[in-house]
Amino acid sequence: MKNRWSDDKAAQFIKNNAGSRGEDLAMGLYVASLIGAEPGLVLHGGGNSSVKTTHRNLLGEEVDAIYVKASGYNMACMDPNGYTGLDLQYLHKLRALSKLSDAEMAGEFLTHSLDADSAPPSIETLVHAFVPYKFVDHSHPDAILALTNQRGAKKILREALGEDVVILEYVTPGFKLAKAVASELENNPDASAMVLMQHGLLTWSDRAKESYQQTIKLVSLAEKYLKQNALNPLVPVRSTPLHIARKRLARVAPVIRGLMAQPTGVPDLPWERVILQPLIRRDILNFVDSDRGKRLALTPPLTADHLIRTKSLYMWVDNPSYDDPVAFRDQFSRAIRKYAAAYDAYIKKHIKEMPEGVRRMDSFPRVVLLPGLGVICTGKDAKAAAITRDIAAHTLAAKAQIAAMGRYRGLQEKDLFAMEYRTLQHAKLKKEKSSPLSREVALITGAAGAIGSGIAQVLLEQGCHVAVTDLEGELLSELAEELKAAFGSRVMSVPLDVTDPKAIEAGFAEVSRAWGGIDLIVLNAGIAHVSSLSELNLDTFQKLERINVEGTLLVLAEAARHFMLQNTGGDIVMVSTKNVFAPGANFGAYSSTKAAGHQLARIASQEFASMDVRVNMVSPDAVFSHGARRSGLWMEIGPERMSARGLSAEGLEEYYRNRNLLKARVTARHVGNAVLYFAMRQTPTTGATIPVDGGLPDSTPR
Ligand code: ZN
Repeated sequence: MKNRWSDDKAAQFIKNNAGSRGEDLAMGLYVASLIGAEPGLVLHGGGNSSVKTTHRNLLGEEVDAIYVKASGYNMACMDPNGYTGLDLQYLHKLRALSKLSDAEMAGEFLTHSLDADSAPPSIETLVHAFVPYKFVDHSHPDAILALTNQRGAKKILREALGEDVVILEYVTPGFKLAKAVASELENNPDASAMVLMQHGLLTWSDRAKESYQQTIKLVSLAEKYLKQNALNPLVPVRSTPLHIARKRLARVAPVIRGLMAQPTGVPDLPWERVILQPLIRRDILNFVDSDRGKRLALTPPLTADHLIRTKSLYMWVDNPSYDDPVAFRDQFSRAIRKYAAAYDAYIKKHIKEMPEGVRRMDSFPRVVLLPGLGVICTGKDAKAAAITRDIAAHTLAAKAQIAAMGRYRGLQEKDLFAMEYRTLQHAKLKKEKSSPLSREVALITGAAGAIGSGIAQVLLEQGCHVAVTDLEGELLSELAEELKAAFGSRVMSVPLDVTDPKAIEAGFAEVSRAWGGIDLIVLNAGIAHVSSLSELNLDTFQKLERINVEGTLLVLAEAARHFMLQNTGGDIVMVSTKNVFAPGANFGAYSSTKAAGHQLARIASQEFASMDVRVNMVSPDAVFSHGARRSGLWMEIGPERMSARGLSAEGLEEYYRNRNLLKARVTARHVGNAVLYFAMRQTPTTGATIPVDGGLPDSTPR
């Protein structure tokens, strides 16, 4: 494990952060950033650190204070607000209690924090308070866990780490653990660190650097010991190439995602979907393809940490039939049913220990292992699924290390249940906000233009995952960059030419590999051309035909095949045009080809209804731009129309505004809102058209 300490950087942290809360806290922040930078030490909000110092209150009195990392804060990106200050003397008194429930403990933290606005501190706050040193660091290092989760762990830990380290048997995190740590330290006053079995590592010192370096030293010793003793590594019985695993993933991901959706009983929104995140790596494939893989994967998890994300048990699918989707569907649904029955039995067995006010989770797995493919994790959105994926990756890697040197020994079921259904853990889940479309995936064709980018923006604002597709090039990459900066991992860009069936198939596969499948397809790609019929060039007409008609047909056909695999319905919205209903002179190629596309979408509404796929249209009047993005339509007709009517760009927009009943300027956001209406399934509607034109009596759909 790399020692990342730098005296210069530490001084820099003091310079930047000491102002508001003092040097001690600045040093604490620096150490947290170093520990947080190593996924092998802490993952996604795991681990915590603290600093004991003083606080001057409004009366000018100095009181003993402890600053502890706030619950859920990520050590990698801490700021002073990530620490909650508490009255240390009062916390010390709590040790006299014989028991303290989570709710009482949370209440004590709230009423004895030094700032009314601070976030709830870590569940381990009292552990930190009861360790009598200025700096305390607590991490969950993979290498330490790989040693604690073995038969004969204590002897192994002694051999690996030496005699100065106290080893504490597993104790439920919180008040009980804090008391156990305190008395163990009193019995071993010279100890330099403590290993918490099936949990992690605790180091301390009055100097920040020493405590951090002790963590690094012990983890490095554990890593070295694991390496030296890896005499019996997992050997795959067959070797699956990575590209084959990825191919298989694209084929089965929509089937898996469909089977992982929970029925809601609500007719218009019948499924609560999940987002998938795959884990396909060489070491993971070796794990699932090893003859010991299944038994090892189904052992209890390494720690009781993060169980609300991963659940206590993973799911395994035996001999998946990747080449036969029907057989695969059958296998996977049988595996889910078996998993769900086991999970229900586990809940039933421990139901008496379920805390009041905590709702049981659904019966489905969060981590699924597939020989010959890898691991698939699920979550309520891409971020949640990625957290589960990272935890699973570290867990499996540590289990493989354990298997290479000894026999795995995990936590007992009752300890797992206690953490999987702990009030404080579930409070974290409740705090995470959900948006209406956060479990959905959309694919937009022709997204790099004005209307497409406007639709993408509206869907992303509602929590949707959006694949923006268009011809490969700067326009698409610029859009993707802009959207990723605002919406992060819910944006992907896929170069896709709607006239090329292979590119469409590959585009759908790419989105399926990334998120598991697609629920909403927005047919937006289209081009325009101005010419009278007498002068219309046949090649140009055929170009419009290829994009506006064949492009629509090909994407509809691929969508149908995709929705059939996923089997949880879906939505298609076609961006039509007012010209379908009120064609314009000199606009024959556009009006007629868009009309053909529109008609195909209406037919799709009839053919796809039995799959609960709704196909609707929005028909905007001219939208010329979205932000700085000019529409292709404007580029085609803007200059000509401007010169024909003797208008400026603003004048032309004004002309279009004045021709509708509401005198409305139609924007890309308006079109996005109309798409959103269908995506939210507010009414049982298919085959319908919403005009987005400010009211044009001639083009009212009929
Ligand atoms: Zn911990």
